[in-house]
Formats: sequence, structure tokens, C-alpha cells
Amino acid sequence: MAPPEPVAVAFANTRSSTHRDRIATLNEWRAWVDAWPGLRPAGHGVDAGGLLALRGVRDDVQLLLREAAGGQRPEPAARLADLTRSAPGPVLRWRATHLTFVVPEHSTAATVIAHHLARAAIDLLLTGPPFAACHGQDCRKLFVASRPDRRWCDSAVCGNRVRVRAHSHRNRRTDPPVDV
Ligand SMILES: [Zn+2]
Repeated sequence: MAPPEPVAVAFANTRSSTHRDRIATLNEWRAWVDAWPGLRPAGHGVDAGGLLALRGVRDDVQLLLREAAGGQRPEPAARLADLTRSAPGPVLRWRATHLTFVVPEHSTAATVIAHHLARAAIDLLLTGPPFAACHGQDCRKLFVASRPDRRWCDSAVCGNRVRVRAHSHRNRRTDPPVDV
């Protein structure tokens, strides 16, 4: 099995295509954050307004990482830069086997999570692992560049779509017109 993606990549990938946002509702958000036990307690404290802000941060993270993967040298958007600059040291507590965030009284769950995920995106750029953007049409996903020739987030999905399209192109060029 492939190792799990860094959280910054997984967060960016919640916007998997132009029309698909995998954290559009609080239920979807909670299902996503459940995969990260350290974020779960604070993550479940995020309200509707907080999720809206987090989705904005996600869009900034995705743009930053996709541009970097495409060979550009983007400046982090103002929102991300502010988040990472102003981030106070997190308040942490062990819950069973997981270190988790405690939401300070003067802050909100969404802010604590946003700080962490913005920082995680910067950490990914600073210390890796190297990552790349999927070549799939309309796919916005990123993945850890485990092999230099890897082109798809999932070759069974995006790679296959391209193969099917290439195949039907070839057939259209060579087949005689069909009467229907
Ligand atoms: Zn893809």
C-alpha cells in the first residue's frame, strides 16, 4: 500500500476537480478530518462559518502547491502568509495515543486548524517530500512524486480516462462513417 499523503497534499486534494469539493459540508469535513486523529478533536469543533474559511484556505493551499509543482515560484497568498506569520504556538494535549490540538479560549477550532494546515503547506515546500500535479484533464490533485515518470493521481482513474479518449480518437480517425 502507498504511504499516506502528507496532510497538506490531502487537504489540497479535497478540491479534486473544478466541480468537486470534498469538504463542501460539515459532514464531509468531519469525515475527512477523521483520517487525521491529531486534528480530529479540534476538527469536530469547526462550525459552518469556520468551514467556509477553511475552504478558502484550502483553495489558497492548492493554488500555491499546484503552481510550485508546475515549476513556478509563487508567493504564498496573503491569507496563507498571515496565517503562518501570526500563528501562536499550538496548545497540545495527549488524547490516548494521539497528540491533539486544544482550542484556546480566545481562538476558534477553525483558526487552530487553519494555522496548522497553512504551516503544513509551507513545510511541504521547505522539507518535502517532492510532489507533482496530476496530468488528468480537469483533475486538480497532487501526489507525492514517488517515481519520476508518475503522471496520474490514480492511473486507474485519470490515466484510464486519457487512454480511453486516445483510443476513441484513433477509432474516429480510421473507422468509416457509420450509418445510424
Ligand atoms: Zn488525477
